Amino acid sequence: MNYERKDERDAKGVVERALQISLDHFDTHGGVDYRSSDGSVALEVTRVTDGRKRAGRSALAKSESASDEPPLASCWLMFVPATHGSMKNLERRIREILPELEMAGIRDFDRGAVQLQILERRPKWQLLERIYRTGIESLWASPHPDDPEHVHELILSTTWDGSIGGSNESLQNLLEELDSKTDNVKKMTESRANTRVLFVWIDGDTPYEIQRPLAAEPPRGLESLFGPPALVPALDPAITHLWVVHEVSRLGWFWDGSEWMALEGV
Ligand SMILES: [Zn+2]
Repeated sequence: MNYERKDERDAKGVVERALQISLDHFDTHGGVDYRSSDGSVALEVTRVTDGRKRAGRSALAKSESASDEPPLASCWLMFVPATHGSMKNLERRIREILPELEMAGIRDFDRGAVQLQILERRPKWQLLERIYRTGIESLWASPHPDDPEHVHELILSTTWDGSIGGSNESLQNLLEELDSKTDNVKKMTESRANTRVLFVWIDGDTPYEIQRPLAAEPPRGLESLFGPPALVPALDPAITHLWVVHEVSRLGWFWDGSEWMALEGV
């Protein structure tokens, strides 16, 4: 017997609203996760993430829950070069600065963009310099709908070389990951539904080269690079519709079989 998971229910709600249909939990003994009552629509929910990192982080969050860190007003994503020496220490230092950043109304930090601001001692330069000196690449506030049980946190992602690939590259990497999840295609094929929807959650532990365009609003001037992909995705014929949504930022893309749509506040 398989029970419905929270992220499955969440995805189901998104698809129901978008397609204006109603779906029932179907995967009680294998098969796709949801189906419409007439069987014409099937939905499978999956996740592309680094499972080990995710498990480690939730253990860490548990052990630190009794600490007296001041609460945050939103979740933050932090990107750090994979070559950075002291991740653990770094996370603690940034976590200490975040409440000050929120008070100062700063929503993002980008290493390349703040250099001039610091050199010219423009407003808030001292705060920015403290972050700059930690060696991180960038930092983004990710506002999202509030859930009373949720505690905002700092999510760390490592970047391989600091280069920024656009949405097309991110999509290619995602599709490669999906190719290895053969179970999805198998269940979709067996569903015999006309509309076969794959919903992919990504999160703060998803490899940087996949999550980057959806992790936060695009930096100014890079909107075109980070818009929805411009490629026709090479999907298995078992998948007719594809959703990709970042669980923290709630930004996403939707492929309806003929074009891409950008989604916000999913
Ligand atoms: Zn949060």
